[in-house]
Amino acid sequence: MTDLKAVLFDVDDTLLDWSGFRDDWMMLESQHLQHVVDFLRAEFNGVFTYGVEAYTAEFRNRTIAAWTAARGTMVAPNVGRVLHESAVALGCPAERLDAAHLLTHYHWRKIPGTTLFPEVHEVMKALIDAGIKVGLVTNAYQPMSLRDIELEGFGILHYFPECRVSAADVGYLKPHPAIFEHALKKTGTTPEQTVFVGDDPEADIIGAQRMGMKAVLRYTTRREHDYSGVKADGAVNTLTELLPKLDAWYPGWR
Ligand SMILES: [Mg+2]
Repeated sequence: MTDLKAVLFDVDDTLLDWSGFRDDWMMLESQHLQHVVDFLRAEFNGVFTYGVEAYTAEFRNRTIAAWTAARGTMVAPNVGRVLHESAVALGCPAERLDAAHLLTHYHWRKIPGTTLFPEVHEVMKALIDAGIKVGLVTNAYQPMSLRDIELEGFGILHYFPECRVSAADVGYLKPHPAIFEHALKKTGTTPEQTVFVGDDPEADIIGAQRMGMKAVLRYTTRREHDYSGVKADGAVNTLTELLPKLDAWYPGWR
């Protein structure tokens, strides 16, 4: 009988509720890009003379290209890289720019309209109290250092001290094995000791199951997922329903 040692969670639509997000993503992004453009114009005075429209157009084309390529390759897009490439394409000297620095000027913040699912605190506490490690694995375009700002804002960052994994940092998107392997290295657990919870049938469920983990589907009403051909080990409408499933699979874990 294997013991339960860790539970890994997807972030968006699994821990964070996006159903209240009403803003125009492009407009929100333009606000962040404006800060980057302000920085570039000051730093490369006379060399970089573009406005936010030109930079945004460059950024969007490169973002779309990165996500389109990712569908075939599973190579994760990275907003820092796109910020850098866009600046270089508009004449900034590559050697005097680094992605990390550009990201600080991107001023990432909690996204208006997103909220924490109400049961998250209770479920994380139940797991942690029982000595189970909890971790995060997201297909984010943002490095984890940016997503951490959101997690901190929701008061949940401290639950995941060891394992917070963003595809942008690892270089591969779920369902690619590399991102799951990276997370398991951080928890120090085997797939048999680890349960994965997420809302995306392919990225989360098929990806985790291929690694040998049990995978629990969190139903979401926000996105239209195709569930055909996917057999999750369990399915829940709220994370609270996860705990009895763990009781059945790992008797005595709590
Ligand atoms: Mg998700």
